[in-house]
Formats: sequence, structure tokens, C-alpha cells
Amino acid sequence: TRIGVPKEIKNHEYRVGLTPASVRELAADGHALLVQSGAGAEIGFSDETYRAAGAEIAGSAEEVFAKAELIVKVKEPQPAECRRLRPDQVLFTYLHLAPDPEQARLLMESGCTAIAYETVTDRAGRLPLLAPMSEIAGRMAIQVGAVALQKSNGGSGILLGGVPGVLPGKVLVIGGGVVGTNAARMAMGLGADVTIADRSMPRLAQLDDLFGPRLKTVYASADALDRLVADADLVVGAVLVPGAAAPKLVRRDQLAGMRRGSVLVDVAIDQGGCFETSHATTHSDPTYVVDGVVHYCVANMPGAVARTSTEALNHATLPFVQALAGKGWKRALAEDPHLLAGLNVQAGRLTYRAVAEALGQPF
Ligand code: NAD
Repeated sequence: TRIGVPKEIKNHEYRVGLTPASVRELAADGHALLVQSGAGAEIGFSDETYRAAGAEIAGSAEEVFAKAELIVKVKEPQPAECRRLRPDQVLFTYLHLAPDPEQARLLMESGCTAIAYETVTDRAGRLPLLAPMSEIAGRMAIQVGAVALQKSNGGSGILLGGVPGVLPGKVLVIGGGVVGTNAARMAMGLGADVTIADRSMPRLAQLDDLFGPRLKTVYASADALDRLVADADLVVGAVLVPGAAAPKLVRRDQLAGMRRGSVLVDVAIDQGGCFETSHATTHSDPTYVVDGVVHYCVANMPGAVARTSTEALNHATLPFVQALAGKGWKRALAEDPHLLAGLNVQAGRLTYRAVAEALGQPF
């Protein structure tokens, strides 16, 4: 199979669909790799490294789209990319179609087969191609929170780990899923005083088993959150209710009860945010202050660590790319219900129920 990797064209997107390491595996499987010149240059993957791994370098996106049978990307295709797709092509990337009728229409018009990373499942019913980005956002939440606590950034001037003779800062993580667990782990690593809140008792029991007494767990009742938020130096919002906007768990009136310069990091901002006062920010201007409390609400946190994100994503996507390229998409999907769950668009139709319903299209 001829596999194409175009350079991402969305603003400030430095990730790339395949790393040189993945290219090497696929080339060893006997596939032909075509990588657009400069596709990984911003994160240290030069054309030369791709060539050494076995890829041919294409001079333009047109060439990649013209020649490839399977296209591997990171972000949803932009309109110019959608218009280049053909019925005989398979696209494997994040799509996030539900809120994006324009992209859905263009993908349907192209006739291509589009498989979305975010709806591929695993045996436990989880989303294995979303998990690496949640791991990254969770781990980053603590480092961005620690920086925001610094005085010059509007923070209270607290060092999360404390020092001998000075108590550590208090971190509250709301939501104990992938993001929350990774945030808690990083905060404990820094030596902070960490509490994690969730509404799932089985999850709290797992976390208790996993981390022992270093991690305090609490049932996320409104009452517990009121008390814990007031006393926290850093609150990380990491809840998810699948298919729904995030519940608002910290109200504006609670901010007045917090210490000045305490920090809220709302990782759930991509689902609308779980603090009443959250609004989406960007990496170039990530924080703002409401009632003396610093807010960090960047919706694409993993973009800031594009090199690590690309490698982590590739470790999750590569087996599926190998299956699609090795067996052809029809057999690969027929033999793997988890990859089939990723199929969103095929031959001009939406093939994923929740997306079709969200867009008011037939299914
Ligand atoms: P997850 O499903 O693994 O975990 C969510 C957890 O929230 C679950 O344990 C659930 O029991 C808990 N929860 C639900 N309602 C709750 C409530 N009312 N109180 C307390 N806990 C509650 O999800 P995840 O992968 O950890 O993702 C969390 C959020 O982070 C999602 O909205 C996801 O889209 C977002 N995210 C954002 C970025 C970013 O860059 N900003 C990156 C990755 C993920």
C-alpha cells in the first residue's frame, strides 16, 4: 500500500501523522511511504531522517494526496485537503465531526473512507487513540499550574513541593479518569499534597489501590468540593461525562472564598469546561484572572509538546495503520470491531450513529 503523510496545515499544528520510527516499521512491512517535505521539521524529524527510515519525500501536499492510497494525519482535514480526497482513498486521523457540518459535507462529497482516531475503541470500551492525549494533558496540567502559581504570573507565590520546614501546596484534581490520574501522579511526583475527587466509587477504590496513602481520595459531592476548592492552591478540572457538556463543578461565588493567586486549570474546556468562569484560551495567551483566581483553559494542551504528543499518538495508531495497509481497509475493518468503530464516513454517507444524529443526517 502507498501511505501518504502530508504536513499539517492547521494554525500552530506541529504534530505529524507518522514518525520516522513508524515509517521504518511500515517500510519493513513492504509498504511505500510518501512524506511531504518539512512535515516533521518543526519537531526535529527532518526529511533526511524520514528518508533514512525508508520514505520517499514529496515536494507538495498535492503530490501526497495524488499518489497515496492511505493518508495518515493528526488534525481533521481542512477544506483544501477535503477537496483533494477521492473515493479510492482512506483517511485515518482525528475528525471530531459532530460539531463540524462543513467538514462532514466535504468528506461525504469526496467519497473517501474516513476513519476517526477518536471513536476507535478497545476491549475495555475505552478510546485508546484519545488516551495518549489525555495522559499528556493531565501531566501538563500540573506543570502549567505550577508556573501559574509563580508571583510574576499572577499566582499566590506557592511552590507546590514546599521545601524542608515549609508545607507543600495543596492540589485538588476533580475527575479521576485518564487526565486526572496523570495529573495526580505528576503532582505527587513534585511532592504536593494531593486530593482526587470522583463520583465513581470503583474508580476511587482503584486509585486508592494504585497509589496508597500518598493520594487522598474523596467522593465528589457538592459539599466536599465546596470545602476542598476553598482550601486548594491548584484545582485541576478533569471530568468527562461521555457525549455531554462538562458539568459546572466550581461556581463563580466560590472563587471569593479561595486564596488570592490560587490557580484553576480546566482541562475539560474542550467539553465546555467544568468551572463556571472558564472560557477557552490559547497557548500564546493561556491565562486570565477572575476574582483574584488565575485560570488556565487551553483546549489543545498536547499541541504545546508536539514532539512527545506525536510519538505517543504513533504508538497507539501504528498497529491500526499496519492493519489498514496490510489487509486493505475492508478486511481490516471486518476483522476488528474496534477499528470498525472508527469508521465515520464511507462512500458519501455518515457511518457513525452519534455523528449522524448530531448533524441531523440519515444513518
Ligand atoms: P475519563 O473518562 O478518563 O475520566 C473522566 C472522569 O470524570 C471519570 O472518572 C468520571 O467518573 C469522572 N466524573 C464524571 N462526572 C464527574 C463529577 N460530576 N464529579 C467528579 N468526577 C466526575 O476522561 P479523560 O480522558 O480523563 O478526559 C477528561 C477531560 O479532559 C475530557 O473533557 C477530555 O475531552 C479533556 N481533555 C482535554 C485536553 C486539553 O487539551 N484541554 C486534552 C485531553 C483531554
